[in-house]
Amino acid sequence: MCGVHSVDGSPIGHEHEHGHDHGKIFYPRARAKSRRAFLGEVGKGTVALAVVSPAVLSACSSGEPTGASPGATTSAPSTVAESDPAASTPTTSAVDSEPAATDELRWGRANLGFVSAYVLARGNKATIVDTGNPGSADAIGETLATLGLNYSDVEHVVLTHNHGDHAGSIDAVLAAAINATAYAGEADLSDLSNRDIVGLTGGEEVFGLEAVASPGHTPGHMSVIDHDAGLLVAGDAVWTENGGVIAGPDRFNTDTAEALETVKALAQLSFNTLLVGHGDPIEMNADTALVDLADSLG
Ligand SMILES: [Zn+2]
Ligand SMILES: [Zn+2]
Repeated sequence: MCGVHSVDGSPIGHEHEHGHDHGKIFYPRARAKSRRAFLGEVGKGTVALAVVSPAVLSACSSGEPTGASPGATTSAPSTVAESDPAASTPTTSAVDSEPAATDELRWGRANLGFVSAYVLARGNKATIVDTGNPGSADAIGETLATLGLNYSDVEHVVLTHNHGDHAGSIDAVLAAAINATAYAGEADLSDLSNRDIVGLTGGEEVFGLEAVASPGHTPGHMSVIDHDAGLLVAGDAVWTENGGVIAGPDRFNTDTAEALETVKALAQLSFNTLLVGHGDPIEMNADTALVDLADSLG
């Protein structure tokens, strides 16, 4: 259970079925006021193709557990077939700039035990964010299936960073996702051996998601955000616990001071849903929970 409680009296008050039941799909909750803060600059020219020399994937450097948990499950999160609060508002304008319903973002979680990977989908296309430990490709495939998709529908695979519990199944995932392009933070590429991975520096757009540089846990750590859907995938930039947002353990960080600056920077963003590598998703007012953490850092 994600254990999130609405604290702001938001008008988005639908009954919401949490859980890890199989065969269900999450839809991010749009805020009452939808934001259309798109990236100003996609800048294809800023995306560099990097083919790096062989190296061994590093696990989270100082002992972050990397073994698959015996309790690992391939969860398929809930369907939240809720109505957009805005949709119930009579619309008089003939101009509707909202994306078609088939483009609505939905997501699924591959709960791999200690760590999670995520599938983000629009229509019949998908992006995988993180790949879990080695041996996680089948579980991610099951999550794709819960969204009605399979590996051939995957257009992008984004690694939030190069630790083995996030990048451990990149080879198997890319072998299955034959149509996909892979991405990771440019500063993390040196540990992502011998693969065609597009380097990100932040600000690029992938699958309608903005790449957000979020260094500290690793130098090239990337988060991705869908501003319209109000969904942030933060990798290991933050963790969640008991419905709140917490800083990841210092010992896993390359630079903890930088990681805390990243927390403050991410707290400037507006989103409802937060998906992290370690901890359950927060699906309501997650940005408020992140601000609480940022404020606690002084
Ligand atoms: Zn990590
Ligand atoms: Zn991790």
